[in-house]
Amino acid sequence: MRKQIAAANWKMNLTLTQAEALTQNLIEAPIQLQPHQEVVLAVPAPYLHRVVQLLQNKQGFHVAAQNCYTKVSGAYTGEISVEMLNSIGVSHVVLGHSERREYFNESNEMLAQKVSIALEHQLTPIFCCGEPLSVREANTQNEWVALQLKESLYHLSPEQITQLVIAYEPIWAIGTGKTASSLQAQEIHAFIRSQIAAQYGDQVAQVIPVLYGGSVKAANAVELFQQSDVDGGLVGGASLQAAEFTAIIQALQ
Ligand code: PEP
Repeated sequence: MRKQIAAANWKMNLTLTQAEALTQNLIEAPIQLQPHQEVVLAVPAPYLHRVVQLLQNKQGFHVAAQNCYTKVSGAYTGEISVEMLNSIGVSHVVLGHSERREYFNESNEMLAQKVSIALEHQLTPIFCCGEPLSVREANTQNEWVALQLKESLYHLSPEQITQLVIAYEPIWAIGTGKTASSLQAQEIHAFIRSQIAAQYGDQVAQVIPVLYGGSVKAANAVELFQQSDVDGGLVGGASLQAAEFTAIIQALQ
């Protein structure tokens, strides 16, 4: 059975005290995860170590960095390496979020390197892809996403790509309150899976979780997650409130 994942992206929000309180509220929330279900919290870098500690006895909960660098160590002031993440027990890393692509000029080629170095260091990449509004309006979102997948992922071996999580996040739906309809999400998730199948075969494509991101909230999560190729969500704004994110996790059932 394919994994289902509710992933939180806290972005550049919260103080340490608030981050600890949110984590604690999630630990205490009435959440019953099935063996194939996971919760991943992508927290700001200064809180990674603390949140890993808080969650160490919480089955099914994992911690993600929101980025990592293309090099293992060295003179790269301000960057975060995969070895550092390994050394504090972080298991996942979000790569290619549209905000990183837009504000920090992360290209498909750079993301290919980040995906590789993460996998080589046993970190699970949550690889984000998705189109801007102009592309959706021109109805060329499939071509857009296909190129992102090709240029950042297809150098991977079948064994490597099966370790990956993909998050489809239409940029026009991130933080805007506009959500893709469940039909739009299902269509493009099925397309993403078909592209992976064409490159690596159906067996590989069937095991890769494809999450939807873009204004997911408790009110729309059930319908989105019911779609056969939607394996959970990557959630920004709504993940900052424990009750709302708890309801989103519960929508995985
Ligand atoms: C995100 O940051 O990945 C995201 C989807 O944000 P939001 O849920 O706020 O749209």
